[in-house]
Amino acid sequence: MPDLSAKSPFELRVNLGSHVPETDVRAAIASGDVGFVHSFTSGSTVDGPGVRVVAWLTGCQFRCLYCHNPDTWTMTNGIPVPIARAVDQLKKYRHGLKVMRGGFTISGGEPLMQHRFALKLFSAAHEMGIHTALDTNGALGERLTDTDLETIDLVLLDIKCWDEQRHRDLVNADIGPVLAFARRLAARKRPMWLRYVLVPGLTDDLADVEHLAAFAGELGNVERVDVLPFHKMGEHKWKQLAMGYRLHDVEPPSQELVGQVCARFRAAGLSAY
Ligand code: SF4
Repeated sequence: MPDLSAKSPFELRVNLGSHVPETDVRAAIASGDVGFVHSFTSGSTVDGPGVRVVAWLTGCQFRCLYCHNPDTWTMTNGIPVPIARAVDQLKKYRHGLKVMRGGFTISGGEPLMQHRFALKLFSAAHEMGIHTALDTNGALGERLTDTDLETIDLVLLDIKCWDEQRHRDLVNADIGPVLAFARRLAARKRPMWLRYVLVPGLTDDLADVEHLAAFAGELGNVERVDVLPFHKMGEHKWKQLAMGYRLHDVEPPSQELVGQVCARFRAAGLSAY
């Protein structure tokens, strides 16, 4: 059985669940009794408040050009993990997380591809008294009932860009369901952090950022905005998977550009970092 722990999500993991018959994959998704997991990592300080243990689930319906973890697109690249084993893995960190006032984040991939498994893990985390956060692209938010939303202490909503066409070109999906989920979280007063990956030439249009900032500022539930500078730590995965990586020549944004984007969010009344 492959080790569930990883030093970082940038470890390439493929075909670890490819032996699972498709009917069993479907049954796992429907029940949440088994999940497909890239890894568990610990020590993150960027995936929610405090120090986080993060479960990286596999499966994603987006195809972001800058994706750092394209091995997580395919669900069966992940390790098939019975829910009890995943809960045991989380238990290992229970005391440390309490001492450090940290928490548990589910990321991916797109965790809502396996929403029942994710919800079971969140429930177990709450029983252990651990803060929960969901890092999501938001497009499958409809899968969560209002009651489900109460089991998630914080949603880290990744909004990829504002302009509809640019969004489609960047991630191969529409932005509408993402914004609908953001509005629903706001209507239900669920705490949210907005995450925005800043990629020179792709998501650095300041007028677009202003529109997004105005939208986020009016929601009323956005506690902070994290502007995440583009990096190429996942480029090796694209190469190893023989996938064409189109951002090889794109450099990380300058500090000045990061500052300009943060300033747009702050001008809309938001805390941006
Ligand atoms: S939503 Fe996340 S995991 Fe999915 S393609 Fe985009 S960056 Fe990658």
